[in-house]
Amino acid sequence: MAPQRFKRHLAFLQKAYHPLSVDELVARIVARTVPDNAVAITFDDGYRDNVVIAKPLLEQAGVPATFFLTTGAIGKGRPFWWDELWALLCAGPPKAEFIMDVAGQPLQVQWSDDQPATKMCTPWRAGVEPQTGRQRAYVLLWRNLKDLSPQSRDKALKTLHEHLGGSATPTWSDLDLPMSLEDAGSLPSTCISVGGHARTHHPLVEFDPARRWQEISGSRAEVAEQTGQLPTGFAYPHGNWNSETRTQVADAGYSWAVTTHRAAVMPKNCDPFALPRLAVGDWSAEQLRDEMEALRR
Ligand SMILES: [Zn+2]
Repeated sequence: MAPQRFKRHLAFLQKAYHPLSVDELVARIVARTVPDNAVAITFDDGYRDNVVIAKPLLEQAGVPATFFLTTGAIGKGRPFWWDELWALLCAGPPKAEFIMDVAGQPLQVQWSDDQPATKMCTPWRAGVEPQTGRQRAYVLLWRNLKDLSPQSRDKALKTLHEHLGGSATPTWSDLDLPMSLEDAGSLPSTCISVGGHARTHHPLVEFDPARRWQEISGSRAEVAEQTGQLPTGFAYPHGNWNSETRTQVADAGYSWAVTTHRAAVMPKNCDPFALPRLAVGDWSAEQLRDEMEALRR
């Protein structure tokens, strides 16, 4: 989202809604005192632009927010794999067709885009139908790489790089990387709180209980180490959860958790460990209002 748009969103929310932190929202759900038009803002993953761009705007507007950190990515200086995948495809040729090995399985990849690379590589919202051949190839690869171990995924990305000629080296804006340790340390304030988002961002249901516990409980301790604040909330990576995962999140000491289920929180009938959310796009303030109001119906 463009920073100017985010600024307009904040002004709109301050005017027409009642922004509060998720901690306050959950406390008020329990106390049955949720104000009308309550809204809480969250950011997933731990990108550097959250600290550099979003945090100052939130503080200027006096709107609280929670930032969920993928602790294993903080301070590593390496892009998230899904960004690396997109950058590799963008740096590739206009046409491609090959069969690549993905963890021992052959995967056919192809695209043919006659639009200029800049147009093709315009980011598009996850969840929106891909428009170009390259976007479709991205979705296919994303689905096939998502559940792999980090080692197998790295190998698949390397194989893809080789198939694309091996010469195309993506360039990175510093803001598109995960936070540095210094960024994470400067995050908490009266306005900004931090939450867990596991260590590796792997879909948690895929893990055995012991490994899942390391991800959930381990990330709580690591967020505390990295930021100096013990988190109260958790965001399930990829919105992937089940009842066992939910129980482990509660046992790890978190007080609430958010999913990616698109809905409004219904205070009379809600599970604090499965709070739904609305994923916000690069919208005008009017679009934001319409999308939020549509959830009331
Ligand atoms: Zn995430």
